[in-house]
Amino acid sequence: MRFDVVTIFPAMFGPVFEHGVVGRGIDRGIIELHTHDLREHTHDRHRQVDDVPFGGGPGMVIKPEPVFEAVESIRPHNAGPVVLLEPWGERLDQRLATELAAEPGLIIVCGRYEGIDDRVRTALATREISIGDYVLSGGEIPAMVLIDAVARLVPGVVGDPASLAHDSFSDEPAGWPQFTRPAEYRGLAVPDVLLSGDHARIERWRRRQAVERSSMHTKELKES
Ligand code: SAM
Repeated sequence: MRFDVVTIFPAMFGPVFEHGVVGRGIDRGIIELHTHDLREHTHDRHRQVDDVPFGGGPGMVIKPEPVFEAVESIRPHNAGPVVLLEPWGERLDQRLATELAAEPGLIIVCGRYEGIDDRVRTALATREISIGDYVLSGGEIPAMVLIDAVARLVPGVVGDPASLAHDSFSDEPAGWPQFTRPAEYRGLAVPDVLLSGDHARIERWRRRQAVERSSMHTKELKES
């Protein structure tokens, strides 16, 4: 799967994706990550990507021309949807990440300042995605969150596929409490059942814990 990211800060991505599961996926050629500097698609001496908003108001707005040109230069190499990251977009969750992992690629456009000229949304983007109901200063961190969530679902990226089946929000009850050695630390003991060697009992305990956790979570959501 191929990820192309349009951003004014391409250097932010290297250090994050050199590491961990996604970094290994890139090294093994299962996924590709390409960043594109929006300023490379400007034609003026100052390489200006933003301008004042029509109608007045604070801040600056990302101009449409460099975004259209950047995406058009990527299109021959990436047939996936054009994702615009915006706080008011569709909320990213595990279901949406799973849906996007089936795409051949994603072209991700990161906003900055007051946002992006709306013609990018209406005439270029095919999806608008938010990582949550809060406002960050740019789309780069949301893009990293999106890439990480989607890339780990691409077959072969996570070494042991059983890890994915045991993730929270998978179809099976999952997300139970995990423990490792030592069996007791500062008077805090690991539940006896996990040391019992009785795999059927362990399985039942884990399922019960996972269901309890998810119903606790649902109850908290209802009460909020
Ligand atoms: N004035 C805009 C608003 O209230 O919707 C906020 C613009 S924000 C400072 C700049 C950029 O950060 C946005 O264009 C978007 O690309 C990105 N961004 C900020 N919060 C985000 C979120 N929760 N999800 C996805 N992208 C976000």
